[in-house]
Amino acid sequence: MDDVERQIADHDGMRLRDLEQACNLSNTKITQALKLLEVHDAIYKDKSTRKYYRTTHPWHFDELHVDEITRMREAEMREMQAYAQAPSCLMQYVTARLDDPHPHACGKCDVCRPQGALSELVDPAMVREADAYLHQDALKILPRKQDGNRHMIPERERMRPGFALSNYADAGWGALVKKDKYQSGCFSQPLIDASVKFLRPYCRNWGITLVTAVPSRRCPHLVPDFARAVAMRLGLPYQDCLEKTMDAPEQKMQNNSAWQSQNAEDSFEACGQPHGMILLIDDMVDSRWTFTVCARKLLQAGAAAVYPFALANTGKQ
Ligand SMILES: [Zn+2]
Repeated sequence: MDDVERQIADHDGMRLRDLEQACNLSNTKITQALKLLEVHDAIYKDKSTRKYYRTTHPWHFDELHVDEITRMREAEMREMQAYAQAPSCLMQYVTARLDDPHPHACGKCDVCRPQGALSELVDPAMVREADAYLHQDALKILPRKQDGNRHMIPERERMRPGFALSNYADAGWGALVKKDKYQSGCFSQPLIDASVKFLRPYCRNWGITLVTAVPSRRCPHLVPDFARAVAMRLGLPYQDCLEKTMDAPEQKMQNNSAWQSQNAEDSFEACGQPHGMILLIDDMVDSRWTFTVCARKLLQAGAAAVYPFALANTGKQ
């Protein structure tokens, strides 16, 4: 909040877009800070230009007040925990806390009727069915229409819609992606098999002629090795069509579109004359900026179309 306030004070009017470029904070955080600063009369918004200005009111971040609220919330949380673990009737616990002069046992709650609690037994057939459902779950990766500075990307420089094989947080493939990436250091056969099975009909439909990978300096072999294995099984050629030109900070350290897209823009260059219908593979997709920027560079360098594919979606897209 200090950062946002300082930026506005230092400039003669700032739009939301200017603040996104100046502060490496998520759009939500910036919007929340603006709201609070407006409520405290520290800033005001000029409706016609949509710029924010600093008022003459003194303002400082009230740390004591914030600490006090945090303490209250923590006390409430402890009370909820005590409720959940109460040895006596739960209803009685609540009504006593709400000053009921005659709290009595309800006879219906978890404590009063422990035998009425939900069974912890699970049907193995149902587990298999849920597992299969999670494993077939694929998620669409939609193309971004604007760049990080909110300018339209020309239609022929946009990626096509593609897919992520899983949700990173899911117990299905997501858990294996995480284990392979951070423990094994290479993507295992089941992930290759699942990706090939999933991709085969799409590659035919899309008319894919070449497979390439998003490069990384941190793990130079992880994704290209995986992409090469998938390409071989699909009977398609693999070629490195992108190179990482600098060691940019990890994309997950960039908190808003302006910073994420600039970070990707600075990090990749097309190489080796990309051509034809390209399947572009990465391990994770989050903000879609890496795919958006890489696809654009491939298309500018000569590719006819670029379809993204990731093993897991980590984002809130
Ligand atoms: Zn009870």
